[in-house]
Amino acid sequence: MQNRPLAGKTALITGSTSGIGLGIAQALAAQGADIVFNGFGDAAQIADLQKQTAAQFNVKTAYFGADMTQPQQIEQMMNDAIAQFGSVDILVNNAGIQHVANVEDFPVERWDAVIAINLTSAFHTTRLALSTMKRNNWGRIINIASAHGLVASAGKSAYVASKHGIVGLTKVTALENAQTGITCNAICPGWVLTPLVQKQVDARAAANGVSIDQAKRELLLEKQPSGEFVTPEQLGALAVFLCSDAAAQVRGVAWNMDGGWVAQ
Ligand code: NAD
Repeated sequence: MQNRPLAGKTALITGSTSGIGLGIAQALAAQGADIVFNGFGDAAQIADLQKQTAAQFNVKTAYFGADMTQPQQIEQMMNDAIAQFGSVDILVNNAGIQHVANVEDFPVERWDAVIAINLTSAFHTTRLALSTMKRNNWGRIINIASAHGLVASAGKSAYVASKHGIVGLTKVTALENAQTGITCNAICPGWVLTPLVQKQVDARAAANGVSIDQAKRELLLEKQPSGEFVTPEQLGALAVFLCSDAAAQVRGVAWNMDGGWVAQ
């Protein structure tokens, strides 16, 4: 099964019903990994996604709708996934939300939600995945941080704090497991045109009285020197590399794929 190097592995990707998480889930399935989906969305569409992925890539799929703000639901999902598949070998902590407001205006409830989903959920999934990874002496934990895990932007206090936080969690997890077959790394995307970013494009178009296309161009050029969006497929390919044997000594990195954003 040389062209399916992840056959026999199970990958759980939080927030994989949409955007980057879905792109990574499909890239891992293409390498033969069984896929555990998580995230919100229309039940019939999610069932279709599961069926399509299973049929297209000849893998098993499951879906758990755990809300990443709820530690008990996360625990249930991890227990159920491990009971069903034997282990979670690849854990991709991807679920994330954004809220934009200056610190003094930031709704307290939004701060708590951003930190819970973008950061605390990854602590819970990681602590719950590690014992079976250790038993197998193999695991890949990939945390989807952001360029905002490395640099800041005004108006994004909770998001930037959560993403810097998850880069820290990545390094500690990598160090604690450095002498095992378990690696932990972060991927730091620049702008990717997903529903999360479309909302920011729409808000910018409305605020500046410009077209959606113009708003996209402005958004990109403000931060991303390439002037082009990163794609979920490109991020999926990086995740596949981090799961490979060649990446066995890549440990604790925060790897930006950002069209040059943090090179500036
Ligand atoms: P998206 O909105 O398309 O997808 C987010 C996913 O998370 C969805 O599946 C959604 O259902 C799920 N989700 C949201 N709240 C949840 C909750 N409480 N419990 C369970 N699932 C929940 O967003 P995206 O752009 O694909 O973002 C994915 C990750 O990538 C996020 O962590 C985001 O911060 C990060 N990121 C995105 C960009 C970008 O430009 N889009 C850039 C850098 C980093």
